[in-house]
Amino acid sequence: MIYDLIIIGLGPAGITAGIYAKRQNLDCLVVGKSFGGQMMNKSVDIENYPGFEKISGFDLMEKMREQLVQKGVQIIEDEVLEVKKKDNFFKVTLSSKEFHSKSIIIATGSSYRCLGVEGENNYLGRGVSYCTTCDGPLFRNKVVAVIGGGEAGFEAARFLSSYASKVYILEKGIEVLASKSNQEIVSSLYPKIEVILEVEMKKIEGEEMVKKIVFKKGEDEIILPVDGVFIQIGYVPASSIFNGLVDLSNRNEILINKETCETSTQGIFAAGDVSDGKVKQIVVACGEGAKAAMSVYKYLNKK
Ligand SMILES: Cc1cc2nc3c(=O)[nH]c(=O)nc-3n(C[C@H](O)[C@H](O)[C@H](O)COP(=O)(O)OP(=O)(O)OC[C@H]3O[C@@H](n4cnc5c(N)ncnc54)[C@H](O)[C@@H]3O)c2cc1C
Repeated sequence: MIYDLIIIGLGPAGITAGIYAKRQNLDCLVVGKSFGGQMMNKSVDIENYPGFEKISGFDLMEKMREQLVQKGVQIIEDEVLEVKKKDNFFKVTLSSKEFHSKSIIIATGSSYRCLGVEGENNYLGRGVSYCTTCDGPLFRNKVVAVIGGGEAGFEAARFLSSYASKVYILEKGIEVLASKSNQEIVSSLYPKIEVILEVEMKKIEGEEMVKKIVFKKGEDEIILPVDGVFIQIGYVPASSIFNGLVDLSNRNEILINKETCETSTQGIFAAGDVSDGKVKQIVVACGEGAKAAMSVYKYLNKK
């Protein structure tokens, strides 16, 4: 059998694409390594997904799963190892089987780059965060540290300073990597932000919630009391198996047309965190998933 569409990824983008594809009557298969994607962490609370004042990532993804299953979409939980294009068709190789389709939506997401220090995992959702948009508002009048002095770290610190009483940017290098203009804006307009250089992070400590971080600066061991730690040292898009099949950005994100979610390869579309869209959020992933499925429908109808 040749499917109209194979969607790779069972996170918000892939699930939404599946729901839309089914409603367009497409013969569609959704394959994902694991259901739910990044949100399946029980300690993550979502407060910016419309319709829910507050819901755990796990519960939100369970609701999305129920809707997909209830629509009767065909789902397989397995890893995609390879996608090949031959003429106008695609061969998708899983660890167990292979399938064929006329089009593909890649919705494989990404993962935040972890710091790898003691306490990081333990305090995730209890003071440690990788996402300022998601968790920044929870730190009103609190002291927070942003780990990473690149562009993302500076942007995060600026955003956080409208809530927090004090924001530290901790950078391991002898200078920050953020642009000169960003540095100038921060030093002239953001008095709450303080940059500390040559920091070797050691651990994150606390009780119920984060209370302090411990780092080395030269020979000194410094204990800095903070309520929150925002780790901003980059993310890794799950795009390596598509390298060579579609064009990637210098950050290894899949380049898409923002209106249609088309990639550089005809018949392949991409949605969600794996794409080069600027905002990595659930609603955006869902929006791109919907857009990609509608574009597939138009693409197949034109053929
Ligand atoms: C700790 C944390 C807190 C967050 N908090 C919020 C928040 O409060 N609000 C918000 O809007 N956003 C939040 N985010 C961001 C949000 O999780 C992402 O924007 C969203 O999950 C992106 O959805 P996605 O479908 O693009 O990718 P993902 O959720 O990453 O899903 C990717 C899917 O692809 C599958 N996959 C990957 N590679 C393969 C392969 N080779 N074969 C088969 N399947 C594969 C995965 O198993 C998964 O099913 C948070 C993220 C984290 C990590």
